[in-house]
Amino acid sequence: MSELRQNFATKEWVVIATERARRPEEMASHHERKAVASFVANCPFCPGNEKLTPPEVLRVPTSTDVPWHARVVPNKFAALSREVQPTRTVHRSRRTVNGFGVHDVIVETPDHSQVMALMSDSYVTEILRIYKTRYDEISLDPRIALITIFKNHGPDAGTSLEHPHSQIIATPVISIQVRERFQQALRHFDDYGECMFCQMLEEELEEQTRIVAVSEHFVALEMYASPAPFCTHIYPRRHMASFGDVSAAEMNDMARMLRSTLAKLYHGLADPDFNFTIRSAPAESVGVKYFHWYLSIIPRLTRVAGFELGSGMFINTVLPEAAAEFLRKVDGDTVKNVATAAKT
Ligand SMILES: [Zn+2]
Ligand SMILES: [Zn+2]
Repeated sequence: MSELRQNFATKEWVVIATERARRPEEMASHHERKAVASFVANCPFCPGNEKLTPPEVLRVPTSTDVPWHARVVPNKFAALSREVQPTRTVHRSRRTVNGFGVHDVIVETPDHSQVMALMSDSYVTEILRIYKTRYDEISLDPRIALITIFKNHGPDAGTSLEHPHSQIIATPVISIQVRERFQQALRHFDDYGECMFCQMLEEELEEQTRIVAVSEHFVALEMYASPAPFCTHIYPRRHMASFGDVSAAEMNDMARMLRSTLAKLYHGLADPDFNFTIRSAPAESVGVKYFHWYLSIIPRLTRVAGFELGSGMFINTVLPEAAAEFLRKVDGDTVKNVATAAKT
């Protein structure tokens, strides 16, 4: 029987439609992935085309005498700009803050054809270190209220550029969605005296059915009320409100966990389009006891339609427990390119 489940963190309801349930393997992405060249002459992120982007904010390694592994550049078509002051105006029912903010692009590798799922762990660690360096720097700006780190992979995830990259957008305001999640977490802390995420992790580790993988410092799992098939969260096991609190040892472990989770999705579901985003405490709430940062991976296997838009409820056709069981069995450590494998 189908059932409605409530997301503990957002209080949103999800219809887990087991009546029309599909087996996890039937969800594999069906779009044809073409084999991609490792260098594309007119790609602004490929080596040799550095002049096509605004000047670098950060480069790894820092020396310009050696080829770069990764670069951070301001987005050429930035949604927000650092050059203006966030001035707020209120005119009757209209509230406006002018377009102040930071919009960085992280070019993850010089190789146009690379995917994060197949990179080495040390390369992913380097990318996460860049996230943290920029996160820490941007956090120091008192005009910033919220920093969002995210990656779009594939056209269904909204990416216009094929070259592997992630983005950071920092805004002078906090959305009602983030505010509401914080209030739920604070309310839970006031009622029970503990972090709701720490409590959930303890329960999930005990129950095991929705766990995808566990490492020394991180847990990857399917949410009980997962709004979409294979929506996978990675939580630090130690309580931390902000991504900026992660230690060097935890960073290495997180890179391994992220890379192998992405590889499980890549191999198990034939390289699906996906978004991932790091949900971290807003700048004003660093160190709070009631919020716990995490990374959320959302494979784009289904589309949001009228019911979702109208009701604010999602329909998920794959049982989270079945998705977890499926992903546990997929080998996340063997490197095999789906596009190349399809050709042979
Ligand atoms: Zn490229
Ligand atoms: Zn916690």
